[in-house]
Amino acid sequence: MSMFKDIPVEVGVIYEGERIRRNDMQVELGGPTVKEKFELAKVRPMDAIEDGKITIIGPDLKDIKEGSAVPFGILVEAAGPTLDQGLEGVIERRIHGYLNYIEGFMHLNQRYDIWMRLGKKAFQKGLNSFEPIGKVLYRLFKSELSIIEKVQITFITDPAKINEMYSAAVADYEARDAKARGLKDEEVDKFYGCVLCQSFAPSHVCVITPQRYSNCGAISWFDGKASASIDPKGPVFAIDRGEIINAEKGEFSGVNETVKKRTMGEVQKVWLYTAFDHPHTSCGCFEAVTFYIPEVDGFGVVNRSFKGATVNGLPFSTIADSAAGGRQVDGFHGMSIEYMRSKKFFAADGGWNRVVWLPKEVKERVKDFIPADVVDKIATEENATNVEDLQAFLKEKNHPVVASWVAEETEPAAEAEEAQVVEGQMMPVMTASSLPIMAGGFKIILKDAKIYANKVIIKTVKDEKAK
Ligand code: ZN
Repeated sequence: MSMFKDIPVEVGVIYEGERIRRNDMQVELGGPTVKEKFELAKVRPMDAIEDGKITIIGPDLKDIKEGSAVPFGILVEAAGPTLDQGLEGVIERRIHGYLNYIEGFMHLNQRYDIWMRLGKKAFQKGLNSFEPIGKVLYRLFKSELSIIEKVQITFITDPAKINEMYSAAVADYEARDAKARGLKDEEVDKFYGCVLCQSFAPSHVCVITPQRYSNCGAISWFDGKASASIDPKGPVFAIDRGEIINAEKGEFSGVNETVKKRTMGEVQKVWLYTAFDHPHTSCGCFEAVTFYIPEVDGFGVVNRSFKGATVNGLPFSTIADSAAGGRQVDGFHGMSIEYMRSKKFFAADGGWNRVVWLPKEVKERVKDFIPADVVDKIATEENATNVEDLQAFLKEKNHPVVASWVAEETEPAAEAEEAQVVEGQMMPVMTASSLPIMAGGFKIILKDAKIYANKVIIKTVKDEKAK
């Protein structure tokens, strides 16, 4: 690509799904150990933007200690005669794709959850400043989104400046989300699909409806509409909703046809309002994940920034791994926080009446959208840290799920014996309908893969970090 002759590393779609491991990283920008981080796009008046200007506030890449993780912010300011604020979400979501085109640079998640890594090899090749990274972003924005006439980019690593800009960014996201609330799925004839995450999750198509945000929480139905209209060949496209096959579960003929086509038949059916049978696929960038807790017949929810173990003993990372990769996993559902504010939030499963546990921080954020008669009956980490405590809490509060327990308590407890595994034999440790492997610049996709192991070693994330 001649457009990137002056960039010290390669830039191209081929690098999109590239992961950078902890041992191979020069520096981490944002990520789980950093509290304040953000990426934000703003539309400004034409005369407020200096086209092509790249600003760095705080230490540049070469001045950041090798192996460390730092607070980080990216501000993309754009202008154009037909650009309006309604496109900010669309512009912002492109940062993810564009930065991942850079060899040796990894970008995950969005908004206040961003997590980036620069690889050591890329650093040694000369990618030691935000300047060339800004140039790549600038050129891709200008070439891919013709509606943008001017753009300037600011990278922030100064913690004081991040702190100052962070709250404003969070207020911006909230204002954007609030604007998108109100419209109902039944009122539109078009939904939107997003395949931005297919580089990491090949059988994933995000279905974005007025009442269901993208899993990443960064694309509303309005953003989808705007994106598809300014860049019809881009990763976000219109879906003809088609017929309502099942209004309760959220099954639409147009959605089924589209996911079938876009996943090359991997996914046949998607039910939008349930976590069971044909749940929406989970990519890898979802803000939170819902997990079914069979002992209480209810849902737990955990978000990406929750530290430590959830009520079933597993941390976010483990639960997320068992759902991610574009699969449909019964009882597991990667989703946005905004979906929890939707009337369609697991509507077919009982909605909030089925949620039994979630982190306090998430509960505070969505509190106004939880029905008043159940809000105090849902436990947080302060009420229960294991399933036994949870059972006691729910019983004491008379949570709606308790009504379903009576029938089960009288059944014989035969299941526990069946669950015993034959040890010593080769047990599959991972089964995936489609498993992408990146090797030597090629992406190899294993279909219907089963990976066998003689021994399985499970390590906690804490052990891994301590190394
Ligand atoms: Zn995603």
